[in-house]
Amino acid sequence: MTETILVVNAGSSSIKFQLFAVGAGDRLERMIKGQVDGIGTRPRLVAVTSQRAILADETWPPSEVATIPAALDKVIAFLRPQIGGNLPDALGHRVVHGGPHYASPVVMTSAILSELEKLTPLAPLHQPNNLAPIRAVLERRPHLLQVACFDTAFHRGHPELADRYAIPQSLYAEGVRRYGFHGLSYEYIAQRLPQVAPQISNGRIVVAHLGSGASMCAIAGGKSMDSTMGFTAMDGLPMGTRPGQLDPGVVLYLLTEKNMTADAVQDFLYKDCGLKGLSGISNDVRNLLASTDPRAALALNYFTYRIALFTGMLAAAMGGIDAFVFTAGIGENAPAIREAVIRRLEWLGLRLSSQANKKNALCISRKGTKIPCFVIPTDEELMIATHTLQVMRKREYAGFQEKSA
Ligand code: ADP
Repeated sequence: MTETILVVNAGSSSIKFQLFAVGAGDRLERMIKGQVDGIGTRPRLVAVTSQRAILADETWPPSEVATIPAALDKVIAFLRPQIGGNLPDALGHRVVHGGPHYASPVVMTSAILSELEKLTPLAPLHQPNNLAPIRAVLERRPHLLQVACFDTAFHRGHPELADRYAIPQSLYAEGVRRYGFHGLSYEYIAQRLPQVAPQISNGRIVVAHLGSGASMCAIAGGKSMDSTMGFTAMDGLPMGTRPGQLDPGVVLYLLTEKNMTADAVQDFLYKDCGLKGLSGISNDVRNLLASTDPRAALALNYFTYRIALFTGMLAAAMGGIDAFVFTAGIGENAPAIREAVIRRLEWLGLRLSSQANKKNALCISRKGTKIPCFVIPTDEELMIATHTLQVMRKREYAGFQEKSA
């Protein structure tokens, strides 16, 4: 019987999921993709096949799907008939924070879950939502293999200087460090490079992950050297609704002069800043590109300006740059943003091929350019499924034979 892996990405009011089948030679094939959103308000499950045929579009009263674990139950109940009445052989979870110690995926046990729950203050908006379904499954189906894959893990090997803030060591010891995020995306890109651009895969590469969350990473020899996010997923580039790099003095100003509470400041920084705050129009780059309002242009200029500034910073971290990669929603689909970024980096040796850029081609730089530039679609879910399969195989090798019945 074909083995399957369910990848789960649980947020505050939605669960995104993808089901992979393990084919011949352990090739992972995406079978089903879907999400439950409106958890607790207007719960709705939509699922499609890998060919985008609709498999499910179901709604429930809010009381029936009031929590993330309840939504995962609905997902599993929907998937079971699709896989011969069985449960998936393993669940692979996206978990935002692995703290200082988790540099690779880990099999979930209650003890490890408790450790990860202690990291909630480091990612208050994400960590509890990521962990809630893991706890529910551990309680109800303890033999179902669950693997946590961390957004921080890829950066754990970065140099010590990249891990530090200039604050007393005691704070570093208790975990106030520069972690970096979007690690599953960067790891995927690092693994794809030898296939799609072998000539630069071992070089010094700046990768810009530009989605609703956005960050950049310096990858040298396939490893993270530094990135634009730090202690939380708020630093670095401006994002849809987060400001990116901000003088801590601004936060003090909000607290003391505006009399905002810490909770209000947190809400403000996560939800009302970034492209949305600066433009006063939208957090979505598509809307800003379509707008003729000068505030939309200002927000997009700020975005591409900061990407160019951070390219300089990350190139300095590696002592140079051999290639540039765009990925994620904006990076993969917005030629105008890529063009603006590359124009700002011409001084560094980047040159755009307008035609290739308009087509979202793999290589969008002019032939013979000193620093080639690529568009590589990311696939964090495939990365999670790959890690989960590796853990499954290691356990089999080590003699674990638990079955998820
Ligand atoms: P998430 O971080 O939610 O996974 P994605 O990587 O899917 O985000 O990126 C979502 C963002 O990508 C949207 O907010 C939107 O601004 C942007 N985006 C998607 N398609 C386009 C497009 N064709 N042109 C410009 N921006 C786009």
